[in-house]
Amino acid sequence: MAAAFDQAAPRRLLGRLRAVMAEAETPGGRLSGLVRLVAAELVAEVCSIYVMRPGEILELVATEGLRQGAVNRTRLRVGEGIVGIAAAQSLSLNLPDAQNHPAFAYRAETGEEAYSSMLAVPVVRAGQVLGVIAVQNRTTRLYAEDEVEALETVAMLLAELVAGLQRASEGGEAPRHLSATMTRVFEGVGLTPGIAMGRVVRHGVRVVAATTLAADPVAERQRLDRAVRAMQAGLDALLAGNGGLTAGSAETRDVLEAYRLIAADAGWLGRIADFVDAGLSAEAAVQRGMAELRARMRRVPDPYLRERLADLEDVAGRLLDALTGTGVADDLPPGFVLLARRLGPAELLDYHARGLAGLLLEEGSPTAHATIIARALEVPLLAGGRGAVDAAEGGETAVLDAEEGRLILRPDAEILAGYDAALAARTARRAALAEQATLPPVTADGVRISVLMNAGLLMDVAQLASSGADGIGLFRTEIAWLARGGLPDADAEEAFYARVVEAAGNRPVLFRTIDLGGDKLLPGFPHGSEENPALGWRSLRIGLDRPAMLRRQLRALLRAAAGRSLRVMFPMVTTVEEFRAAKAMLRAETASLRRTGRAPDHVLAGAMIEVPALLWQMPALLDEADFLSIGSNDLTQFLFAADRGNARVAARYDFLSAPVLDLLAEVAAQAREASVPVSLCGEAASRPLEALAVLGVGVTAVSMPAGAVPAVKAMVRSLDLGAFSRFLAGLRRSAAGGGSLRVEIAAWARDHGIIL
Ligand code: PEP
Ligand code: MG
Repeated sequence: MAAAFDQAAPRRLLGRLRAVMAEAETPGGRLSGLVRLVAAELVAEVCSIYVMRPGEILELVATEGLRQGAVNRTRLRVGEGIVGIAAAQSLSLNLPDAQNHPAFAYRAETGEEAYSSMLAVPVVRAGQVLGVIAVQNRTTRLYAEDEVEALETVAMLLAELVAGLQRASEGGEAPRHLSATMTRVFEGVGLTPGIAMGRVVRHGVRVVAATTLAADPVAERQRLDRAVRAMQAGLDALLAGNGGLTAGSAETRDVLEAYRLIAADAGWLGRIADFVDAGLSAEAAVQRGMAELRARMRRVPDPYLRERLADLEDVAGRLLDALTGTGVADDLPPGFVLLARRLGPAELLDYHARGLAGLLLEEGSPTAHATIIARALEVPLLAGGRGAVDAAEGGETAVLDAEEGRLILRPDAEILAGYDAALAARTARRAALAEQATLPPVTADGVRISVLMNAGLLMDVAQLASSGADGIGLFRTEIAWLARGGLPDADAEEAFYARVVEAAGNRPVLFRTIDLGGDKLLPGFPHGSEENPALGWRSLRIGLDRPAMLRRQLRALLRAAAGRSLRVMFPMVTTVEEFRAAKAMLRAETASLRRTGRAPDHVLAGAMIEVPALLWQMPALLDEADFLSIGSNDLTQFLFAADRGNARVAARYDFLSAPVLDLLAEVAAQAREASVPVSLCGEAASRPLEALAVLGVGVTAVSMPAGAVPAVKAMVRSLDLGAFSRFLAGLRRSAAGGGSLRVEIAAWARDHGIIL
C-alpha cells in the first residue's frame, strides 16, 4: 500500500520542482526530471506526461515507471482511454481500479498491465487542453484530496513547459484545424431575445505569462494582498456606478451587493493565500483557485448555488486582472459578441459599458445573476451552445440569434447578408413601432385586445409606459427573492409590492404568488433533491405545504394594495381543491386585514392553467376563479412531455399545432360562457405569429416580456380578427395529427398584410 502524501508536501514539491526546472538544460530533461520527482513525491510507481499533437492525439512524451520504449510511440485519441477522457472533459479522473474501467485503453508497449489505480489530470493553459499528466499505482487506491491538488498544481506548471514544447515542435504557432475555418452552428436557448452580429470576444481566456513559482513567498503574499485591495476598490467603483442600470432599483442593488460579499469572502481568499504560502506565484495561486472552482461547479447539482460559484469565478478573474494590470480590454471591437462559459454580474456590466451586443453563456440559466442583469440591459442572451467558447477565436465573426436559439460562428457571406438585412429591417421596424407605442391595441375589425407585460423586478415595471402595455399580466414575485438570494423580511416585501403597485399607477397588476422549485431554487430553502424537479415540490405545492410562508406573502400583497384592487393568481394549480385551499388563505388574510382597515377595496383570485389535469375540472374551476391565466411555458411542457429548458427537444413540438390550439380554444370558450376573463402569459405571446393564433382561438388578453409589446400591438392593429378566427377554426378542423400549422398560419398572415 502506498504511503500517504504528507502535509508539508506541497511546499516541498514546489521547491524541488523549481530546482529541477533550473537544473535541466533541455525541455526533454525538464520533463524527465519532473516525472521522476512527481512519482517520488506522490509515492506513485508511474508518472507519465502526454502532450496534445495535431489531430487531437495525445502522445506519451515522458514517463517514470512505464517502458521507455513507449515514449513518443504510445498515442491516444482525445476521448480514448482514461487519459483521453481527462483531456476531452478537461477534468481530473481519480480511479482506484482504472484497469477495469470500461474506457481503459490498454497499450501493450507501455507495460502498464501491472498498475491498478490511476489519477489523470488535464494540463490546461488559457482554456485549452495541452496534455495530461497521470500517476499510477499497483495497489487499488483512491488518491487523497491533497494528492489530487498537488498533481493539479504540477499540471499548471507543466502547462507553460508544454506550450513551449509545442511551439518548438510545430515551428511556431499551432496550426488551426481545417474545421476551424468553417461555419459552425451551436444550438442554445434564448434567455433574452434579440439578434447580434459582430466580432467574437472570448471571456475568461486570459493568458497569464507570469512564472508559476514565486521566488519569495512573503513578498508574493504582500503582492497578493495589494491586488485584493485594488480589486475590491475597483469593484466598489463599478458597483457604485451601477453600470448604467436604472438607478435605485432594489433588486439590482441586491444582486450586486451579494456579489460584493462574495468578493470579500475570507474562505476563498484564504485558499489562494495558502497556495501563495506554499510557494506558488500569486497569479498561479489565483488560477489554481479558479481551476478548483470550475471543478466544484461541475459537481454542484443546485443551479442556484452554481450561479454563486460563477460569481466567485468572476471575482477571481478580476483579481488576476489586478495582479497582471489587465482587465476587460478597452479596445474591444464595437458591437462585439461575447462568448463565455459563465459570467458574473459585474463583468457583464463592464462589457456592456464597452459595447457588448450579444452574449452566449455556455452554462447560462434563467436564474443566473447575469441573466437577470442581461434582461435589464436588454442584451440578447443565448444559453447553451456548449463548445462554442473553445471553437471560436477572438476577432472572428459570429451571429448570435437568441430568437432562434443559435450561434453561428464564422458565418459565410450568404448568412451574413441575410442577417444584415434582417437586422436593418428590425431596426427600422423598432423605430416605426416606437412611434405607435401609445396607440390602443384595437383590431382592424374593432376588437379591443389587452396587451400586457410580464415583470418580476422594478426595473421591468419601469418599462410599462415606454412599451405601451395595458398593465402587468404576470408579476413573477419569486424573481426578486431569487435575485436577493433569500426570503425577504415581511416589511421589505410589502414595501417592494407597494412600489410595484405605485409604479403601475392605474394599470392592473396580476401578482403571481411565489413559484419556487423546478429550476428556481432559493439558497437555504429546503428544496431537497428531486429526480424530476419540474414535476416535483414546486409553486403552489410549496405554498400549501408551507402555509405560513404563503400567508405571509399574501398579507404583504394585501397591505401593499390597501385602498386599491388586488389581483392574485396561484401558479401550477393541479386540482380545484388546491385552488380552494389557496383562496381560503387569501380570504382569511383579507378578512383579518379588513378588521384593521388596511385592506384593498377588491381582492380577485385567479388560477394559472399550467397543468393539463385542470382542463378536466373547468366547470368547478370557473365557479371558483375570478380570472384565469394560461401559463403556456409550463402548459406546453407538460402537454408535450418536453422539458421547456432542453434545447434538444425545444423544436420538436410546435405551439402552433392542433393539440395546443384546440386546448386554448376550449378554455377560451368555456371561460367566455362563464364570464371569467382569461389571458395567456407565457413566452408564446411574445412572438407575433403565436400571439396571432392565441387571439384567433378566442383568448383576447396576452401578456409578454415588455420588449415584445410594441410588435404584438402592431400585429393586433393590422388584424381582421373575425376573418382570421374563421380561417383558423377551419385549419384546426382539417389538421390531421399534432404536427405544425405554422406554415399555413404564416401564409395567411402574409396574404392578409398582417404586421409580424
Ligand atoms: C408559464 O409557465 O408559462 C409561466 C408564465 O410561468 P413561468 O414561466 O414563470 O414558469
Ligand atoms: Mg409556469
